[in-house]
Amino acid sequence: MSTDLFHALTFEYSSPYPFLICAGPCSAETEEQTYETARQLRARGIRLFRASLWKPRTRPGSFEGVGAEGLSWLRRIEQELGMQAMTEVASAAHVEACLRAGIRTLWVGARTTASPFAVSELAEALRGEEVTLLVKNPLNPDLELWEGALLRFHAVGIERLGAVHRGFSTYGKGPYRNAPLWQIPIELRRRHPELTILGDPSHIAGCRELVPLVCQAALEMNLSGLMIETHPTPEVAWSDAAQQLTPEALITLLDSLLIHPTRSTADSTELSQLRRGIDHIDRQLLHLLSERMKLARSIGEIKAKDHLPIVQPERYRTLLEERLRLGSELALEEGFLHELFSCIHEASVHVQHIPLSTDQ
Ligand code: PEP
Ligand code: MN
Repeated sequence: MSTDLFHALTFEYSSPYPFLICAGPCSAETEEQTYETARQLRARGIRLFRASLWKPRTRPGSFEGVGAEGLSWLRRIEQELGMQAMTEVASAAHVEACLRAGIRTLWVGARTTASPFAVSELAEALRGEEVTLLVKNPLNPDLELWEGALLRFHAVGIERLGAVHRGFSTYGKGPYRNAPLWQIPIELRRRHPELTILGDPSHIAGCRELVPLVCQAALEMNLSGLMIETHPTPEVAWSDAAQQLTPEALITLLDSLLIHPTRSTADSTELSQLRRGIDHIDRQLLHLLSERMKLARSIGEIKAKDHLPIVQPERYRTLLEERLRLGSELALEEGFLHELFSCIHEASVHVQHIPLSTDQ
């Protein structure tokens, strides 16, 4: 029996794919557009529907959602099409309006997860309610905030909790609208092995062309499923027009994905052998790192005796250049080596700085 606080989300209907799939427009714009999207998705077996009614927009003057008026559109989709419809809530008033309308599948957006005040307000409004709640990661790459929000919701009695990885805001232009920083959802999964984590390739990619690549990556990272923005005429969508897919394009994409995260992985002998090799190398790495730290400490003692600064920029520069050169001959990636050696160097500086009496 798992001792984790969180349990995998289950639904009474099965997904047509070997992973969870949630789809629907970024925003509910009109009743027709919302219903038509849902109808096309349902015809292809998709039962979990998304559409935002309240839209957090970066700048004033853009479409801010249809608000509570759309709640009856979502209810109609649930009742007539047998789907489960979810929307974003960002305040106690949103939660109350949803519960009154009978909408009990909700998500918390990235901007809200970033604010513990807002999360607490939502948690109070949801105390003891039977809802399914997905928590998107905060805009900033802070796993503690993301996990903290999940814990706050768990503490008010919400059992049906899941997470959504929608990437992280960074300054400057990368290939993606939001950097995936996969190590963060991977660490969340390590801490909570049972937690359902959906990938949100639409908000990571920011453009249609990159959505398939990010879907494949999300499944390779063993996320539990995907939330993908879908619109009957994406080019004229009122929000996130560049990243939405038609229902037809979505199905072509889902059919092409090759990873099956829910399939049990009875490890092959070959896989176990290779993993034993990795374990052995990691142990050697640890012994080598420990030897390296001992040398760094001895160097620290000499520097202290001679009143020399611990950080010697010229030495660090030539060391890094030499390691990168050798690494490139060994076909190791430069960005990775750069990060690795700056970590190692930082740790070396740290052990030299600690007062020697606390050293062993
Ligand atoms: C959305 O899902 O449309 C949305 C606003 O997402 P996020 O909170 O991830 O920006
Ligand atoms: Mn969106």
